[in-house]
Amino acid sequence: MADGSVTDAVEALDAAVAAQGDWAATAPRERGEILRSAFELIASRADDLAMLMSLEMGKAVAEAKGEVAYGNEFFRWFSEEAVRIHGRGMQAPAGGSGLLTIKKPVGPCFFVTPWNFPLAMGTRKIGPAIAAGCTMVVKPAHQTPLTMLALAGLLTEAGLPDGVLNVVPTTRAKEMSEALQGDDRLRKVSFTGSTGVGRTLVRQSADQLQRVSMELGGNAPFVVFEDADVDAAVDGAMTAKMRNMGEACTAANRFLVHASVAEEFAEKLAARMGALTLVPDGPGFFYPPTVLLGVPADSAINAEEIFGPVAPITTFETEDEAVARANDTEYGLASYVYTRDLSRTIRMAERLEYGMVGINTGLISNPAAPFGGVKASGFGREGGFEGIEEYLETTYVALPV
Ligand code: NAD
Repeated sequence: MADGSVTDAVEALDAAVAAQGDWAATAPRERGEILRSAFELIASRADDLAMLMSLEMGKAVAEAKGEVAYGNEFFRWFSEEAVRIHGRGMQAPAGGSGLLTIKKPVGPCFFVTPWNFPLAMGTRKIGPAIAAGCTMVVKPAHQTPLTMLALAGLLTEAGLPDGVLNVVPTTRAKEMSEALQGDDRLRKVSFTGSTGVGRTLVRQSADQLQRVSMELGGNAPFVVFEDADVDAAVDGAMTAKMRNMGEACTAANRFLVHASVAEEFAEKLAARMGALTLVPDGPGFFYPPTVLLGVPADSAINAEEIFGPVAPITTFETEDEAVARANDTEYGLASYVYTRDLSRTIRMAERLEYGMVGINTGLISNPAAPFGGVKASGFGREGGFEGIEEYLETTYVALPV
């Protein structure tokens, strides 16, 4: 694998800047159809992509196939959104003039993606950027450049013009981001990764006042109330905790369980976790799926992103206590609630300081939904109708009538 230099990155930005004008002028239908062709190509090569991803970063092939299918849905979704970009027209409140807004692509973007979902974290940015008419430079995680390069190859095959998407693998992430963000031709940065690096990139965006989207770390609470269907909660917990071996920003990090059902929940979850197959004899690092009961609320494991197969359970007595504990973190990405009380469902959705709340489900990711966080989990949304707005500027036109 070539190790890109800062010069390579600047040349990639040169290419993105040179392609920006023509790409913005390309008909939305054409941009959408390129994405749609890429979606078909990825679907037809899903097994190869999944195997590549598995070899590259170690997730099980079945998980990798799931990621290819999930990640590819962003291309389908944004292929359909490309032709629905629209501003609005209205009469000025005082009359006498009209107000018109038009949408334009933000311009050349810089994307930085993590290793844990090497394809989907790319398609969530590349899809809407292509649909909106932006060009881009992508720096994949240095552990997983092959998946991103394969994705770029399929987009080229689908008809994406040269210069629109430029992938630069490198081990010099810091120098590269400093150089690109110091360049006033770059208009936008979108990052998925840790909160620490996110803070650095936001600081670096200040001089050129670049627009930023930040998908950062999480510390998801998984709240189980006394009226929950405990078996359903255990099913959801397995998904929320063990998807991608627990290496997900949306992973359930802290299990907050009502004292009256905590033992039953812990026993059932431990049985399911213990039945998972672990193959610790090969090269690499392994940790057995583990359930911890009776964890004090203020313990370190409840404060940090675990990013692994450990499920700490802390008990609570009242709804207010559950809410206070759930919100007692700097993060605010995903949260999960199990209850059969409809009023409580709405109350929890309103009271939890999170960008996403899953009710009686352990899987919330969906290309048609706005994915993103609040507080130290960042800002901006990927997917849904909101996702393309991250790549559009609004121009207001005053029209005397
Ligand atoms: P990381 O922040 O260490 O790395 C992410 C990317 O940032 C990599 O490409 C890395 O090379 C790059 N990077 C590091 N320093 C940089 C710098 N100074 N300038 C530019 N790029 C730099 O994170 P990671 O360990 O790869 O990923 C795990 C983290 O990502 C977890 O915190 C997880 O929660 C988070 N994550 C968030 C989401 C989300 O959507 N919110 C999704 C997946 C992962």
